Amino acid sequence: MKTTTFANRHIGIGEEELPLMLKKIGVSSLDELIEKTIPANILLKEPLKLGAAMTEREFAEHIGELAAQNKLYKTYIGCGWYDTVTPAVVQRNVFENPVWYTSYTPYQAEISQGRLEALLNFQTVISDLTALPLANCSLLDEATAAAEAATMMYGLRSRAQQKAQANVLFVDEEIFPQTLAVIRTRAIPQGMVVKVGSYKDLTFTLDIFGCIVQYPNNSGSIEDYREFTEQAHAVGCKVAVAADILSLALLVPPGEWGADIAFGSSQRLGTPMFYGGPSAAYFATRDEYKRNMPGRIIGLSKDKYGHLCYRMALQTREQHIKREKATSNICTAQALLATMAGFYAVYHGPDGIKEIANHVHAVAFWLAEQLTKLGYKLQNENFFDTLRIQLPNNVTIQEVRTIALSKEINLRYFDNGDVGISVDETTTQADATLILNLFAVAAEEPMHDVCAIPGKAPVAAQFQRLSTYLTHEVFQKYHTETEMMRYIKRLERKDISLAHSMISLGSCTMKLNAASEMLPLSNAAWMNLHPLVPEDQAAGYQTLIHNLSEQLKTITGFAGVSLQPNSGAAGEYTGLRVIRSYQESIGQGNRRLVLIPASAHGTNPASAVQAGYEPLTCACDENGNVDLEDLRAKAEAHKDELAALMITYPSTHGIFEEEIKEICEIIHACGAQVYMDGANMNGQVGLTNPGTIGADVCHLNLHKTFASPHGGGGPGVGPICVAEHLVPFLPGHVSTGNPQNEVSAAPYGSAGILPITYGYICMMGAEGLRRATQTAILNANYLAACLKDAYGVVYRGKNGFVGHEMILECRKIHEESGISENDISKRLMDYGYHAPTLSFPVHGTLMIEPTESESLAELDNFVDVMVHIREEIAEIETGKVDKEDNVLVNAPHPEYEIVGDAWTHPYGRAKAAYPIQSVRDNKFWINVARIDNTLGDRKLLPTRYGSFE
Ligand SMILES: *Cc1c(COP(=O)(O)O)cnc(C)c1O
Repeated sequence: MKTTTFANRHIGIGEEELPLMLKKIGVSSLDELIEKTIPANILLKEPLKLGAAMTEREFAEHIGELAAQNKLYKTYIGCGWYDTVTPAVVQRNVFENPVWYTSYTPYQAEISQGRLEALLNFQTVISDLTALPLANCSLLDEATAAAEAATMMYGLRSRAQQKAQANVLFVDEEIFPQTLAVIRTRAIPQGMVVKVGSYKDLTFTLDIFGCIVQYPNNSGSIEDYREFTEQAHAVGCKVAVAADILSLALLVPPGEWGADIAFGSSQRLGTPMFYGGPSAAYFATRDEYKRNMPGRIIGLSKDKYGHLCYRMALQTREQHIKREKATSNICTAQALLATMAGFYAVYHGPDGIKEIANHVHAVAFWLAEQLTKLGYKLQNENFFDTLRIQLPNNVTIQEVRTIALSKEINLRYFDNGDVGISVDETTTQADATLILNLFAVAAEEPMHDVCAIPGKAPVAAQFQRLSTYLTHEVFQKYHTETEMMRYIKRLERKDISLAHSMISLGSCTMKLNAASEMLPLSNAAWMNLHPLVPEDQAAGYQTLIHNLSEQLKTITGFAGVSLQPNSGAAGEYTGLRVIRSYQESIGQGNRRLVLIPASAHGTNPASAVQAGYEPLTCACDENGNVDLEDLRAKAEAHKDELAALMITYPSTHGIFEEEIKEICEIIHACGAQVYMDGANMNGQVGLTNPGTIGADVCHLNLHKTFASPHGGGGPGVGPICVAEHLVPFLPGHVSTGNPQNEVSAAPYGSAGILPITYGYICMMGAEGLRRATQTAILNANYLAACLKDAYGVVYRGKNGFVGHEMILECRKIHEESGISENDISKRLMDYGYHAPTLSFPVHGTLMIEPTESESLAELDNFVDVMVHIREEIAEIETGKVDKEDNVLVNAPHPEYEIVGDAWTHPYGRAKAAYPIQSVRDNKFWINVARIDNTLGDRKLLPTRYGSFE
């Protein structure tokens, strides 16, 4: 085996370490371990047909060649995506920085203060610009945010509305087509009726519970919704608005004209278009609706010594607690992109943002004047950045298109023959002149002498924003690159990421995100492509998407793929929608139940509800496996109503259940479908797959199994792979005339991060992928063998082995010492580790998934730490140390406490901060003590302006 292959850089364990690890586990070979772990009847008989592994250099050349096939025209299509300038200081220090992109969702707040502050900045930006007090961070894209708004308004119906069964959602016809398509996919199965028309003609009736409008709208027109909103409110109807976030720097914000919810994309605040995604959607509302808010909210709190700090607030709304009653199924969101948008606003400040908005508007204004002089008719009198132009009789849309393409310009072509131009931050005088020139040529008019574009242009008084925004000092202090770089670095130092140590989060697969996979993302040819450009300008993306889709089909054993879902949970929802369409097509649309094991991830029941199903729970036995008899009984009792089973494999307990094939057969015998939650595919790739097992559809989490980074809570990609009979029902996209089951704004979801997974598969090759899975299982079993005596391992498979992750017992410890798994998690921080998954899927436990990327040295160090912590607990159990004042309950110990003059604990500072030698070599200094969770929920302070005084 060559040292220098990519697989050997990705996989942490070398051949020379194997014998020792196998001996510890008690098997003689890796093959034996696998045979004793995975049921024989599902093991693949042949290697995956994926082609030979590329070297890093070969992949760099290959992906470079693909990138070169994308053509970067000047694009003024708009429709939700706009070219923007990512500040280089943000690109280099955040987007390309593994501390920012490999960190996990900030559940462990004490080691996440940097990204929490960055996300609170984002919420502050959104709250200021929309003039609504409460913003989240973040949603997947503008279209799904619209669907979330619909669901939220439906949930907020008054008693009277519920009694009257008010189920009509009014959507103004001047909304982006992809937004409407996604609303339809989501709203209809939930029992809403989507009524589309002009807001100007709407007569409010009691059956309407909510309205969605757009500001400025699909035609670029700024409409005055004040009166409309008053009428809506008069009948108890809510109003949500999709608003262009940059326009709000100049326009009266939704919160000031009465909107209940504002949502949209923050892409144009410095996130490249990436052929559609990823970028962060924003969502803001009134304070009184905070318990109905979807997605994650960051809030202020205090640590135990009273220092102000940040944490994720109101988590009880979320699916891991509320399950089918959750406000949304949002788990992975767009954290990294929200972070970047927040930094964009920090870097520019209120004056910079206003300058950018003024420039955009001034260019549009200038173009409007000049085009009118050439005989073109402006269709939208009040506009921000977008002009909708009616062509004169002697000019056809085809002529305009041909001339535009010859000048490498993309415009928007409306169905009725109008042409749209959306200008953006990057549009220069020269660009605008070229646009004008093309219209002059089309009209066969000479170009007049034109004046230069001014710095700003007027906005009609009724729409002019008078209120201030971004007044917090964070938006004033970092406008030079030096200050900005230091601010980013200052936050960065507060966070544990994969750049510091193993993050063994069970179910989350925090593996290596290799630099060679990430590098292509910085190529402008992947970054700056608009998703609605003609396909021949996106040939590189198209080939990438095609090749990756083929690879994913091979890996899952399925016949079709959709890359559209933007997260695992979105994939679940999409898969269920596809099942529903299939069943409707065979006259079985009445199947309304989805069977879900009690151990399932919270997104499963939440997604089932989003897709219009009712979840039905089936039990697990004492070994953590699905209780086959209960499953059979429930499936058969509801035979005619059962749509699907959702099952995770290997199970959320990290076990390869022996009966998985039988389980699939039971479900199929009832005429229902098997949905496999593929979050645990890292236990399957190359060894077995959902197709072989007998499932009908699965989602993959590219941000878990397939090497895409977590980004501090996103972005993710949750493609679904389906068997032959479901292929016709996969999501389409309104831009190609087929909006069937459309689930995200862009045709290929977060296309911009697909090069990561593509690189991973190309460079690992079939053999590398298989070895990665074997090694993931090896590492988990090694940790189980090393920690079983100190803690105990909760579940094991038939032959005594765990899968690719394992659950550590902490409940007895709690009984005997009062120390909880939460205390252990906090103490791990003192040792420089991020906690494993806490209390999922079993309360009172820690679930550890080391992944294949960790080395034996790192595994051994982690074992050392865990054993040492167990000894610290033993000191409490034996009464050697105080139950109330010890290193565990006081953990984590912040730097300011360690170096403080006062030290009141019965143990020394060294025991607190340097418990073992290896910590001294790699100390992670924490800057807050344990955070008060109740305070931050009791008084929600979701912006930087908040204060407990
Ligand atoms: C992570 C996870 C999900 C949800 O995926 P997201 O990408 O976070 O939406 C679903 N099921 C399981 C078992 C998971 O671990």
